[in-house]
Amino acid sequence: MGKKPTMTFRLGDDFYDKLAGLTEQLITDGFKLFEKEFANIDTFYKKALADKSKRTDHNFRRNPKEMYLLEAVYYQVMDRVNRIAFNEAENTILILPDCLSLMKDKCQRKRTRLGKVCTRCVPNCQINKIMQIADRYKLTGYFSKRALTEQIEKIKKGKPSLAVIGISCLLTLASGMRSAKEAGVPSRGVFLNFTGCEHWADKPFPTETAIERVKTILEEKYGVPDSSS
Ligand code: SF4
Repeated sequence: MGKKPTMTFRLGDDFYDKLAGLTEQLITDGFKLFEKEFANIDTFYKKALADKSKRTDHNFRRNPKEMYLLEAVYYQVMDRVNRIAFNEAENTILILPDCLSLMKDKCQRKRTRLGKVCTRCVPNCQINKIMQIADRYKLTGYFSKRALTEQIEKIKKGKPSLAVIGISCLLTLASGMRSAKEAGVPSRGVFLNFTGCEHWADKPFPTETAIERVKTILEEKYGVPDSSS
């Protein structure tokens, strides 16, 4: 008699009931916990649904509050699952969002083969501040390209043992981490504290992130750098 195959998972009859219960609980608890952080999402969503203009990002803007929560949890799970592989990878790069640049259209970023890089044109720009932390570990940061998986794959060709720190908004960080996974690269990430790009604001403005978290992730991996370096 042949050996029975091992099932990686096997769903019982009650699986969907259990999943529905878990989801209900997560949404109820999540909305309560993030009441303050998510306070304006419903209004934005309703406006986005009612917007009949010809803009091309309706689909992106039309996300109910549940999706923000889901993407936040997805990020948290991936950040947790990736932690060991991230810390063990030899090289680290940062993938940065356009909207964090203080000078917006006047940003002096420079094109390179693997993506645009910050030239440190103004001291108060958060990207400049993040790159000053990255400098202590001799790390490079690239602005994210639309084809993120391809960008990371290309960088990986020169650095086969690679990990990435991504900075992005609540709705896009986890998807960026999935792109890194597709490229075979473990990632960790930090959220933008709020949105400011053209998808969300009529007049785009620079965003901000928790720079301390970038520092903490790097210190966990490399230790506290020598202050003389
Ligand atoms: S400091 Fe860097 S990211 Fe910020 S505006 Fe200047 S070149 Fe752009």
